[in-house]
Amino acid sequence: MCGIFGIFGHPEAANITYLGLHALQHRGQESAGIVTTDGRQMFVHRHLGHVADAFSETDLQRLPGHAAIGHVRYSTSGDSHIRNAQPFAVDYARGSIAVAHNGNLTNARNLREHLEARGSIFVSNSDTEVIVHLIATSTQRAVQDRIEEAMAHARGAYSLVFLTEENLIAVRDPYGFRPLCLGELDVASSREKAVLIASEGTSFDLVGARFVREIRPGEMVSIDRKAIRSTMPDLLAGLSVDHRLCIFEYVYFARPDSVINGNSVYTVRKAFGAKLAEEHESQADLVVPVPDSGVPAALGYAERAGLPFEMGLIRSHYVGRSFIEPQQTIRHFGVRLKFNAVASHLRGKRVIVVDDSIVRGTTIKKILLMLRHAGAKEVHVRIASPATLWPCYYGIDTPTRSELIASTRSNDDIRQFIGADSLGFLSMEGMLSVVDHSKDATRVCSSFCDACFSGHYPVPYDDSIPPRHLRLVGN
Ligand code: AMP
Repeated sequence: MCGIFGIFGHPEAANITYLGLHALQHRGQESAGIVTTDGRQMFVHRHLGHVADAFSETDLQRLPGHAAIGHVRYSTSGDSHIRNAQPFAVDYARGSIAVAHNGNLTNARNLREHLEARGSIFVSNSDTEVIVHLIATSTQRAVQDRIEEAMAHARGAYSLVFLTEENLIAVRDPYGFRPLCLGELDVASSREKAVLIASEGTSFDLVGARFVREIRPGEMVSIDRKAIRSTMPDLLAGLSVDHRLCIFEYVYFARPDSVINGNSVYTVRKAFGAKLAEEHESQADLVVPVPDSGVPAALGYAERAGLPFEMGLIRSHYVGRSFIEPQQTIRHFGVRLKFNAVASHLRGKRVIVVDDSIVRGTTIKKILLMLRHAGAKEVHVRIASPATLWPCYYGIDTPTRSELIASTRSNDDIRQFIGADSLGFLSMEGMLSVVDHSKDATRVCSSFCDACFSGHYPVPYDDSIPPRHLRLVGN
């Protein structure tokens, strides 16, 4: 998963983008990058690691200009390497173009084979580079037309921001898999307003911008010095079937303080929890969330079940990427580094533990051991989404089927494996009933992609061509 940001018409474009990326850090922690333009040239800085570590004050000063795009990356396609860090920026016969991408193209390998056969040479193994080559080889004149033509070849999930010397352009795929929204910001030194694009509106709050609206599936928004234009390009709209906003954005990925498709993510998560309580009630003394991802759902569960809510697990937010493990092996060190149980509130209690999802099942298993060690008498696990059974091809990093615990084990096998007294998942119907907008014309997306739970893939994944062998090593 990734986060993207863009701004046009602000004298501090790089600084605002840097802050915007901070608010999107949850969408990707592997690398961060910003490209700016002053109308004549482009300036690029990309670095591995978190936003705070990727840019120094000097780095930001070296990114002048009134327009910028930025990206935080969580690799779902291509290795974790600086060459795959985004935004991608290239020069070609018609100027320069940079792109930041959230989503995964399902036919990237095929497109790449095709482009290579025509002479394109790739520097990365990320699917996003394919987009740049398609634009460079387009026969159209205007950059908007070149982008439209390029994206008409692409399949799968893409929310994109492009930067040229003259334009900032945002595009959302016709299915609307990934969120994308539009904002505006007053510019102190003039009466103009800067235009902003971001994966999630929380980044607008941080920079003092206003949320204007969500970008529609299949929409292109093009901004230059004179105007902001919205179009529904025929080549993209022609591909549209149903809208397929990723439901996992609500379950886990988006920040709870974001609004997606007109819904507060926090409210949706609480409603998932309440529904879960209706579907899987249990005699218990208290409800404990797995922080942070399980908190809103646990609140909703506790409220509906009429049970006390307690922070029986405390999460450390300061776990760095590298730490020194003691020489004497400590069992389950990794999870202890992140969580600890509050024994005083758990001893002798029947506890309901609520989390957002189970993927491999390893985290919850260790948490349960911790709770029992702290004296919990019974531990009942409630998961605020259905069992994750299928991998995602549209930008969420879910493992292969064999690694997904629910794809090979029955409910009772999972219960035994994780060591729970009982286990309940939110049903598919329960989940969809919370977010059903099929009859609400004011929403930009009318329906959802739930492939990770249902196996119903709206766009087939094209793996007919074997994986690339280019491995990127070192820095
Ligand atoms: P596990 O079952 O041990 O693989 O981990 C499940 C937990 O990881 C869930 O409770 C989520 O909070 C979190 N999670 C779910 N999906 C993802 C993802 N794609 N990337 C990172 N963490 C995730």
